[in-house]
Amino acid sequence: MYRPTLGIIGGGQLGSLLADAAKKIGIKTVILSDDINAPGKNFSSSFIYGNYDDQVIIDEFINSVDLVTYEFENIPFSILKKIDEKKTVLPKPEVNNLIQNRLTEKDFLNKINIQTTKYTSINNIDELKENKNLIPGLLKTTTLGYDGKGQYKINKFEDLNNNINFNKKYILEKLVNLKKEISVVITRFGHQKFEMYEPIENVHEDQILKHSKVPAEISEKIREKAVNWSTLIAEELDYIGTLCVEFFIDKNDNLYVNEIAPRVHNSGHLTINSHNISQFENHIRAVCGLEKIQTKKMFNAKMINIIGDEISFYRKKIYKNNEFFFDYLKKDIKNKRKMGHLTIINK
Ligand code: AMP
Repeated sequence: MYRPTLGIIGGGQLGSLLADAAKKIGIKTVILSDDINAPGKNFSSSFIYGNYDDQVIIDEFINSVDLVTYEFENIPFSILKKIDEKKTVLPKPEVNNLIQNRLTEKDFLNKINIQTTKYTSINNIDELKENKNLIPGLLKTTTLGYDGKGQYKINKFEDLNNNINFNKKYILEKLVNLKKEISVVITRFGHQKFEMYEPIENVHEDQILKHSKVPAEISEKIREKAVNWSTLIAEELDYIGTLCVEFFIDKNDNLYVNEIAPRVHNSGHLTINSHNISQFENHIRAVCGLEKIQTKKMFNAKMINIIGDEISFYRKKIYKNNEFFFDYLKKDIKNKRKMGHLTIINK
């Protein structure tokens, strides 16, 4: 059977786990990263280091692969577009362009009648003053923020300080009175062709994902809505590959989409051990046009993110046969950096 060579832009833990899944089904991968120490180089068949806007590097990458995917959404649209002229990029660059901006992402969701938290665009302090109805709220940069980076929590209008850098564009989101957070990971193979994982329950600490588990403890009504919305999003985007929809459930059991990740997602790491086909393998299968295999849960599971210097403890720990430790092999231990994860399955 045809086995293309897949280019992956980005060599962090997601690129590493994608490359690892590809290897298991006989797909060669080439990772392109602007970090010479990217952990992905330990997992891919080959590795190219260079800046994403260096045309010589991009040409070398394009010439060594049959098609291209990416592990993170913050790649400039112009670069993805240029690559796409020579080798197919999946998910499509236009999808990434829409989702990488929190404003266009939320506009898209509301256009297809999916509920998000209330929000508005903010470009200066006066606009902030005019939107007191969205406070308490979170002021987030429209692009490039993740894991709480580029975010200001505004509890009271009087709390506002002058630290906000208005050279950037922002979105102000009303704070949701959170009961629970869940996510749905879904892989779309083509028109109305999906493989989907059941909703995953997530706990964040300091805006960073700490734990995920299946099954999520949610009502049937919420489960059904989350699954239907995720399917609608993937279909409306004409998406190919794995995406993740992150949801908020408030104290009154209202469901909101927080954001869409146009890629495999940290909350889906447990699928490596809980399901017959992981989110990574499904992504590879979808973008490479391979067979779609019915995805089934084998075990309930919990995943714990290992952050910063917690990794030293986990590297020494002895594991039981239902515990699976993943070390991302990152060169430097940094505060708040995701260094690995542990999945515990319920046998
Ligand atoms: P984000 O970077 O938008 O994914 O936000 C990271 C985390 O911050 C979320 O998973 C929530 O725990 C929290 N958060 C973000 N936006 C809101 C909001 N509007 N209301 C309540 N919590 C939020």
